[in-house]
Amino acid sequence: MLDLLRGLRGITATPGRGCTRLAYAHFEDQAHDYLWERLRSISDLRRIEDAAGNTFIVPTSAAEDGSPVVLVGSHLDTVIEGGWLDGALGVAAGMYVLESKSRAGRADPHLGLVIFRDEEGVRFSTGLFGSKVFAGECTATDLDMRDSDGTSVRDVVPDPDGCSRYRPPVNAAAFLECHIEQGQRLIGSDARVGVVSGIVGIRRFELEAKGMANHAGTTDMRRRVDALVPVAEIVARCPSLVEDLDDAVITCGWLQVDPGAPNIVPGRAVATIEIRGKDDATLDGIERRLHDLVSSVQPAVSGGRCAEVGLKSLVSVAPNPTDATLSDLLVEVLDDRGLAYKRLASMAGHDTQQVARRCPSAMFFIPSIAGVSHNPDEDSHEEDILLAGELMSAWADRCVAECS
Ligand SMILES: [Zn+2]
Repeated sequence: MLDLLRGLRGITATPGRGCTRLAYAHFEDQAHDYLWERLRSISDLRRIEDAAGNTFIVPTSAAEDGSPVVLVGSHLDTVIEGGWLDGALGVAAGMYVLESKSRAGRADPHLGLVIFRDEEGVRFSTGLFGSKVFAGECTATDLDMRDSDGTSVRDVVPDPDGCSRYRPPVNAAAFLECHIEQGQRLIGSDARVGVVSGIVGIRRFELEAKGMANHAGTTDMRRRVDALVPVAEIVARCPSLVEDLDDAVITCGWLQVDPGAPNIVPGRAVATIEIRGKDDATLDGIERRLHDLVSSVQPAVSGGRCAEVGLKSLVSVAPNPTDATLSDLLVEVLDDRGLAYKRLASMAGHDTQQVARRCPSAMFFIPSIAGVSHNPDEDSHEEDILLAGELMSAWADRCVAECS
C-alpha cells in the first residue's frame, strides 16, 4: 500500500507542492492507468471503463455473467495542491484487498476495485460526479457544467449519453470505502477507527438585509439604516446555535456589502450560512434556531429601522445514512481485533453517499494527523494506513460471505 501511495504521490501537476490531479485531466488518467499496471498481472481480472470514465477492475466472470461483486475503492482526483491520501488511500486499500485475495495469481471472483472520477468537483464545480453517474443520477445540468476554459463535462466524458442513460458495467453487491477522516475527532481520542454512521446533510441559506446607503459622515447614528449591523450580529451568534450538538456545524463563508466603501453606510448586506448535520432532525432543529435568531435580531439591533432581514433557502442536500448491516460487519472485524472505534457522521461529502443509491454502501475513517487535509501536509500514521488495508481485507471477506 505504501509503495502504491508513494507512486501515486509522484503523479501530479505540481511536483513538490502536494498532489494536483484535476478531474479528466492528464494526471488523473495517468493515476487510473498506474493502478491497472499494478493489478494486470493477476489473471482473470479485467479493466472496464464506464460512460463516465470510472475504472472498474473486476473478475472476468463478473464482467461477463453479471455475478455480484463487492466493490472496494474511492477516487484519485484531488484538489489543487492537495494531499497524498485523500481518495488514494481508499483506492490503495482496494488494490491491497484484490492482491491479498488473489490465490496463486488468480482473482477472487467476488471482489472488485472501483475508482470514481471527479469526486472533488474542483474543475467543473460538480463534485461526486463519477459516483453520481454510477448511481444513475446524472442530469443534463451536470454534463453542461464548464471549467474555467469553457470545456464542459460533456466534452471530456467518454460517453455523455451513456452517463444520462446509465447501465452499470458490473452487478455491485456492496461498496466499501475507507478514507482519512480529514477532521480532528479521531486523532485526539482512543479510537483507531471511525465507523461512519452517515454522511451529513447540508443546507445553505442566503441571509440578506436591506438598509439605506448613505453618507458615513453626515448620517447620524440614530437615523441611519445600516444593513450590515443585523447581518453581523446574526453571523456572530451562529456558533451558539450548534454548541450543544454533536456532528453539527454552521458557517458563514461568504459575505458581501453594497455599495462596499469605507465612507458609505451599507445599503445591503448578503451572507451565506451553511449548516451541516447528521440527520434531518438535527438539521430541522438548527434551521428553526436560525429562523428564530433572524427574527429576534432584527428589531433588537435596528430599533425597527432596518427595512428587512430575510433568510432564503439556497441548497438542501439530504443526509445519507450508511448501510447498517455492512457497518455492523465492520464492527465485528474491529471487535475481533480488540480495536477501539468511534461511530461518527462524515462532515464532508464522499462517493459512498452516491453509491448508496445503487447498492448497500458503508465506510470507515482512519485518523488524519492534526486533522489537516486538502493541503500538501495532509498525512496519517503509517500504522494507520496499513491498518486500513488489513481492516478492508477482513471486512470485504465478511461482506462476500454475507452477499453470496
Ligand atoms: Zn476524498
